[in-house]
Amino acid sequence: MNKSERKGTELYHFEQLSAFSDIRHFVSSRKGGFSEGPFARLNLGFHVGDSSFKVLQNRQKLADAAGIDLFWFTFANQTHSGNVAVVDAAGRGKGATENRTALENTDGMVTNVERICLCVLVADCVPVLMYDPVERVIAAVHAGWRGILKRIVPATVEKMIQHYGCRAENIYAGLGPSNGPCCYEVEEDVKRETLISLGSLNGIITPGKNPGKFIFDQWNAVKMQLMDTGLKESHIEVSGICNQCHHETFFSNRAGQGESGRYAAGIMLCKR
Ligand SMILES: [Zn+2]
Repeated sequence: MNKSERKGTELYHFEQLSAFSDIRHFVSSRKGGFSEGPFARLNLGFHVGDSSFKVLQNRQKLADAAGIDLFWFTFANQTHSGNVAVVDAAGRGKGATENRTALENTDGMVTNVERICLCVLVADCVPVLMYDPVERVIAAVHAGWRGILKRIVPATVEKMIQHYGCRAENIYAGLGPSNGPCCYEVEEDVKRETLISLGSLNGIITPGKNPGKFIFDQWNAVKMQLMDTGLKESHIEVSGICNQCHHETFFSNRAGQGESGRYAAGIMLCKR
């Protein structure tokens, strides 16, 4: 990923998506906000116990750094579901300044409306941003192990295809910083649920370092699901940045032992 900085706020950008001049996208870091303690400094989640006023100030800082109006952001109340929302013009700004108006029970969002920044919040789960430059459709997805088992990422691609007539082979995807196969340890119950939900553990679950523990490879799982849905491997960019290894730069719920802020990944179609 490439890094940009404005007034102390550091944002990261996928190399492939950066080549398209008619979209804006970013993954935020911890750098350049107002929050303190476990939320230092650019916590973007209202729901984690931080001061709401500071979160609002942080979101304004993010908006300034990304060059996107704060009232163009759309957030969802993420629930580790398989639910995908088609966001129309009325969805612009939902959840931007308060949680109350965020899209309910949603983990994937798609739109073809310009000047709506689809935004997901994460701190270990995988943020996925997608773009179809042919039909001009964007998507943002929040995919942790639960969402992966519910096929939230393929469901989002299918929504792009069914609702907007996209072709999978035209879609580009970026997998942002998240808990990597170096760190993401799970127990027997997750292994069992994975087998029941996906029918195979291949490329997803491997033995962990400690007895009774396993590694859940979120990056490979999402990549395989995208390729099964028809995306070209060359169109999939995996950041390869583990947020737990790099918890100074990206919030990690696991590194913070359950208390941490959230960083965001967002994508917006610009006016042509
Ligand atoms: Zn790691």
